[in-house]
Amino acid sequence: MTVRTRFAPSPTGRLHLGNVRAAAFNWLLAKHHGGSFVLRIEDTDADRNVAGGEEAILEDLSWLGLDWDEGPDIGGEYGPYRQSVRDNHYLATIQGLLERDAAYACFCTTEQLAAEAEEYDDGRTAQRYSGKCRNIEIDERFERVSAGEAHCIRIAVPEDIQSINIKDEIFGSISFATNEIEDFVVQRTDGRFTYNFAVVVDDIGMEISHVIRGVGHLSNTPKQAILFDVLSAPRPVFGHLPTVLGADGKKLSKRLGATAVAELRAQGFPPDAVLNYLSLLGWSHPEEKEVLTRSDLIGAIGLERVGKSDTQLDEEKLRWVSSRHLGMEELQEIADHVRPFVDTGMFPEALTNFQATVDALRTRLSTYGDINEHLEVLYPDEGDAEEKRQGIGSDPEVRKVLTAVQKRLIILPAWDPEALDQAVRAGGKDVEARGAALFHPVRKLLIGSEKGPDLGKILAALGRPEALRRFDQGCS
Ligand code: GLU
Repeated sequence: MTVRTRFAPSPTGRLHLGNVRAAAFNWLLAKHHGGSFVLRIEDTDADRNVAGGEEAILEDLSWLGLDWDEGPDIGGEYGPYRQSVRDNHYLATIQGLLERDAAYACFCTTEQLAAEAEEYDDGRTAQRYSGKCRNIEIDERFERVSAGEAHCIRIAVPEDIQSINIKDEIFGSISFATNEIEDFVVQRTDGRFTYNFAVVVDDIGMEISHVIRGVGHLSNTPKQAILFDVLSAPRPVFGHLPTVLGADGKKLSKRLGATAVAELRAQGFPPDAVLNYLSLLGWSHPEEKEVLTRSDLIGAIGLERVGKSDTQLDEEKLRWVSSRHLGMEELQEIADHVRPFVDTGMFPEALTNFQATVDALRTRLSTYGDINEHLEVLYPDEGDAEEKRQGIGSDPEVRKVLTAVQKRLIILPAWDPEALDQAVRAGGKDVEARGAALFHPVRKLLIGSEKGPDLGKILAALGRPEALRRFDQGCS
């Protein structure tokens, strides 16, 4: 079987971690099987669409590296990929259903339906349409439709089967009694098509093999399964992903803006770390590994290791995964990624020896954007810092150590972390200072604290002129 998965968002706002997780699973699964990942925009509900919504989705997916093989912007063999321009597919399908009496026109008005519901209301069972119009004679039905009487189109739910059985790859076998499913609407009185209908027509038309989406859609699945059956199309593999709850254990809400994909991007999370984190929302690696590259994920993903239990967003965990991804990057790579986040207004010096600066600070970063919190370690407010440096050198013992190190640094030809580290030790040796007695005063002089990054790295980041300037202030 050719695996074809899809992500079918409605353009109602930016993607957040809860809804983009379905995209991540579909993309990974398609890649795992060497299949195709289709992007379809479900924009039939004009009232809910927001301006720029589609562009935002494309942008967020692209940033995450979830590239699509077919979609609204690039087209494809099964297009178009926006539901708002697929009416001809829906109409042709409805026509076919009507011809086979698998669907029928229903003339009941909202008032009639409400009255009917009241009449049958026993206070317990869910109200469902009685199927009254299903029995209208064909000639009468034709006449009323021809005369322009308002009507919707309903599916004639098969009466010869008692239950609809669904095999879900995650939730297992689920059975729904057909007598609990009313003859549901596929085209509304105003001509619009319902969600369940459009989705199925498109999933069939686009030859989608796997429908992987949030568990919130499980309740729609029996109706969709009926449609696949009535349309004599093979059902796709269904897999419903468990609910993602907010960090507070409550349902995800708009309020949790920090979980929007765009927000994570702005904070400087690497896309591969976010993808890694998304995959862990419901799925686990066979060896319980949690830090996984994109290709690790493609290799290992599978619906068999997705659980049913709700999962909860955990910012700490996301930051941890992210820090591990940063740790995997080459120095040049991480420096390039961090650079756009530097607040150059606040830290104009930071870009001078930028790679060395990142090298000194990288172990403190969970995101690229964290850099600004740590740059002040190297570049503190100059007024205070100068005074403190002068204070350090006023102790004669300390001054002896600092001067010895200073001498070694002045004559050092190469200004790289390793050579610098050795020069500091050599300076210490000259005056028989080592360990804390050597490193603490030097670090305190350079960054105002006894603890911090490796001295060689601090010196490399500051660069020769700035480092020696700081020594001058402490030793003058
Ligand atoms: N358009 C639906 C949504 O945004 C998804 C439909 C589906 O995956 O079947 O929730």
